[in-house]
Amino acid sequence: MIDLREHCIQLLANRGVSVADIADCAVYLQSAYFPNLKREDMVESVMDVLGKREVQYTIMTAIAIDKAADRGDIDDPILLNMLREDDGLYGVDEVLAYSICNVYGSIALTNFGYIDKDKFGIVGELNKKNPDGSYPGNHNTFLDDIVGAIAASAAARYAHSQEN
Ligand code: MG
Repeated sequence: MIDLREHCIQLLANRGVSVADIADCAVYLQSAYFPNLKREDMVESVMDVLGKREVQYTIMTAIAIDKAADRGDIDDPILLNMLREDDGLYGVDEVLAYSICNVYGSIALTNFGYIDKDKFGIVGELNKKNPDGSYPGNHNTFLDDIVGAIAASAAARYAHSQEN
């Protein structure tokens, strides 16, 4: 049987994102509440999030769309242009990311909104564009939101595990 978590970790790695990168974002999101939190403390939460079937299917879908945009393999030229330029009003990338946050509740959703604006760490790296609005490498229109949502969810899971 295929290990979908390993499959997704490989898909993410092929797009330049490691579990450690995501854990660093999750640490950042919780650092105000747990100042001594380390990357190692958060890796378990990230791995747990990556183990959820809903999360795995969302990662696979998001990366497939970004890769189709890389290849120009989208029939509708208007949609292709929006995907390639990460049009600010498109918003479907964020909505897909909610499907990850929804598994982990309101703390995940609010954390996602925060890191989506703040663009800490790898989320910011994935968002870097050329002056003309194009991406220097891969198109990461969906990936940045997915990575932010995984980090936000890992942070939420950690927060809930620490109460009492
Ligand atoms: Mg995006």
